[in-house]
This record gives sequence, structure tokens and C-alpha cells, in this order.
Amino acid sequence: MTYPNTQLFIAGQWQDAAEGKTLAVFNPATGKEIGRVAHATKVDLDRALDAAQKGFEAWRDMPAAERAKTMRRAAALMRERAEAIAAIMVQEQGKPLAEAKVETMASADIIEWFADESLRVYGRIVPSRNLKAQQMVLKDPVGPVAAFTPWNFPINQVVRKLAAALAAGCSILVKAPEETPASPAELIRAFADAGVPVGTVGLVYGDPAEISSYLIPHPIIRKVTFTGSTPVGKQLAALAGKHMKRVTMELGGHAPVIVAEDADLELAIKISSGAKFRNAGQVCISPTRYLVHESVRADFVAAFAKYAQGLKVGDGLTAGTQMGPLANPRRITAMADLLADAVQQGAKVLAGGERIGSEGNFFAPTVLNDVPLSARIVNEEPFGPVAAVRGFTKIEDAIAEANRLPFGLAGYAFTTSLKNAHLLAQRLEVGMLWINQAAAPAAELPFGGLKDSGYGSEGGPEAIEAHMNTRLVSIMNV
Ligand code: NAD
Repeated sequence: MTYPNTQLFIAGQWQDAAEGKTLAVFNPATGKEIGRVAHATKVDLDRALDAAQKGFEAWRDMPAAERAKTMRRAAALMRERAEAIAAIMVQEQGKPLAEAKVETMASADIIEWFADESLRVYGRIVPSRNLKAQQMVLKDPVGPVAAFTPWNFPINQVVRKLAAALAAGCSILVKAPEETPASPAELIRAFADAGVPVGTVGLVYGDPAEISSYLIPHPIIRKVTFTGSTPVGKQLAALAGKHMKRVTMELGGHAPVIVAEDADLELAIKISSGAKFRNAGQVCISPTRYLVHESVRADFVAAFAKYAQGLKVGDGLTAGTQMGPLANPRRITAMADLLADAVQQGAKVLAGGERIGSEGNFFAPTVLNDVPLSARIVNEEPFGPVAAVRGFTKIEDAIAEANRLPFGLAGYAFTTSLKNAHLLAQRLEVGMLWINQAAAPAAELPFGGLKDSGYGSEGGPEAIEAHMNTRLVSIMNV
């Protein structure tokens, strides 16, 4: 299986970093170095910024219908190349091949939806109080965008930002993840091969803090979009605020799963256990705090633990693997620390609880029961394959517990009562609530959080609106 080295994409050219620096890329299933990624410095960033400005002017001045056609060509290339791209993603990120293929194919769907939606970016005429004046509300692209994306969904995290920015008529400079660089580079390649104007799309890697602290204040950049942890998001949002830049922040979560006494228990177990271990729990909308009505808790945890114990954990390229390794060794340390703390505080380990083997970053699918509220796992985002179960007797108490944390990204609930469903819909402080179903994010749906989980949306028309200026022009007939 081959794995490519990754270059920067600046001003329409694939190139090494000006100073020739590179970083190592590791396969999380083996811990071995598999390739290198170019490490940009200020010289590269200056060239990328200059290109982003020129690329913006060229893309903005293309008719929307032409832009949409270019985007659709990129989508078609992603579909054609999906097999090879998915194999690259598994080697650098670890997820099972089937999940990598779904992510790659989904990128084409996202691009197409945004290409179509870009044809419907309308301004409006507002009737004037003076009949001699015509008042127009115009929508213009905000300008070059700087995007910072993480390693858990190497393509999906980029394509949501890229497709929305391009649909609005913006150019975009992506700082993609150094740990999983080659698969997002294939997404950029699809746009390059589809014929976006030079500079409309750029790609850099390097030191994340150095790059963000240079790009965000830079006058060429007009919008900042970031996905990652809440502490980093707060730093970047503060910097963007200081320089009056538009911002979208998609940050951490700690999703509650409320299983009411009237839930279809079989459905709740099937859906919520499957969702927990997808991408080894390294998902911002991953279910984490399971709040289960006392009357069904024993049955729920027994089935959940059985499911976790039965999962086949291994290399994402091995047939039959259901859960891959964690993305890097520091996630193993993070899981082990959370587990030690929970157990020390009295939580019961029903499944998993430890690292598997010593090669690669494998951690067993883990189910904890009776987790006290003081345990770190029910306060901090685990971002790994660990579920924490607690009981409740009144639905209002479960809602209060769900809302206790500063996070507010995704939430899940299982109930057959319309009354409960309405109450949950009104009271759960989350940006996305899925009742009696798994999360089903799609390009046309809003995707984003409340409170410390960030602001703005990466789906639906709101994602395009976030990249637009609204201007008034009034013309008086004199
Ligand atoms: P981290 O906070 O160091 O990094 C998270 C992401 O932010 C990475 O992609 C990193 O490159 C980037 N980053 C870090 N500092 C930056 C800076 N100053 N400027 C620009 N980008 C910066 O954590 P990590 O160890 O890589 O990941 C662990 C935590 O990150 C998890 O606990 C989780 O909360 C969060 N995370 C969230 C998502 C998500 O989808 N929301 C994805 C990946 C990681």
C-alpha cells in the first residue's frame, strides 16, 4: 500500500515549503512513519495570501453558474477517485476503510449541494418610503477565508468549509491537519483539476499556532473558520475579534443521550452504542453521557457492554475491522487518565477500560456505569471510545444534567412519548438534537453548536450566509 508525501498548494502550484522543512506522518495502527508533509513558513504564507486575494477577485467575478459547474466537476473527481483516497485516509487516520469511503463519497454530495445552493444567493429590493428611490440589498462574498481543520474527519472538516466559502464566491486558504495531510490534499487536488482559478483554493501545513497567529490578523483574510477544541477556538475567536474578522467556530461537545422509561429500548441500544464507537469516538457529536431511566438502566448497560466487547478493533485496512486506533499516542494517554480518575472515584468498568497491545494507538471500546458527577469523564470531552452511564428517575432531572456542562453541540434522546419529545426539543441546550435516531448530518442541515461548542453553522443556507456581506445601495431618481 503506497502513501504519498504531501506538498503545499500555493498559487495553483504543488510545491515544497520555501525553506524545505517537512514533518513526519505516522500510521496510527502501527506507530510507524509513512511519509512527510511540507511545513510552511512566513514566505510561503505571504505567497499564499497574495494568491488568495487574486484568486478571490477571479472567482468572485465568475458567473455563479460557471462557479457551480466547476464545483460539480470537483465533486465528480472525488467520486471517481474515492477508492484510492479512502485508502490514503485509513493509513494516516486509522478509521475502517468503509468509513473512509463514506466520508470521501459524502464530500462529493456536500460539494454538489453547495454548488446548487450557490445559484440561489439572492439580494432583495426593499420598497422605499420615497417613491423616487430604489433600495437594493446586495449580498457579496466577504473575501478570502482562512480555514483551520482537525484530523478526525480529514476530508469532511475541510469540504464543509471549502464548499460553503466557494459557494459564496470567496477564496479559501486551508491549514489542514499535519497528522492527516494527504487525504485533504486530494480534495484540494480535485478542485485544482476541476479548474478553479489560480489562488482560489490554497493549502498549507506547518505549526498551527504560528500559522493562525499570522493569517488571522492579516488584512487579506476577511473570515476565519475553525474546527477543534474549545480552548483553541476561544483563543482564535479572541484574535479574530481583535481584528474584526467574521468567525465560525465548531468546537468540542459532550453529547448527552437521554433514554426515557418509555423508549424503544432495542432501538436505543442499537443506535446509541453504534454511534459511540464510530471513528473510535473521535467525533465532536459523539454520544458521551448516557442518562438512562432507572427502570431500564440494567438492561441497557448489559446490552451496551456486550456490544462494546464484541466489536472487532484493528487496522482500518483489515477486512472486518469495526473500530480503528486512536489518531495519535496522546489520545491513548488522555483515555488512560480519564479512566483512572473515573475508577478511582467509584465508576464501574463494564467493558474495555484499557489500551490494547503495545503497537499502534488501540484503546478498547469502554462502557462505564455509575459514574459520579465529580469524575472528569462527565465534565471534559473524552474524544475517544468511552461511554459514561448514569441513571435518572425524572426527565426534568435528565435535562438539567444534560444542560449542566458549558458544551452544547449535539444531543440524543429516545422516547415514544410526544410530551417528552416536545419537552426535550424545547429545553435541551444543543445545536443539534436527534430523537429516536442516529445523527444524520447532511449538507442542507445546519451543523453547529451553542455555548462553549461555538457559533455559526457549517450546513444549510446559513453556512453560505456566514461568508457574505450584506450591503445597502439606494438610488434616487433625480
Ligand atoms: P488540540 O486542541 O491541540 O488541537 C485540535 C485541533 O486544533 C488540531 O487540528 C490542531 O492542529 C488545531 N490547533 C491547535 N492549536 C491551534 C492554533 N493555535 N491555531 C490553529 N489551529 C490549532 O488538540 P488535539 O490533541 O489535536 O485534539 C484533542 C482535542 O481537540 C479533543 O479533545 C477535541 O476536543 C478537540 N478536537 C475537536 C474536533 C472537532 O471535530 N470538534 C476535532 C479534533 C479535535
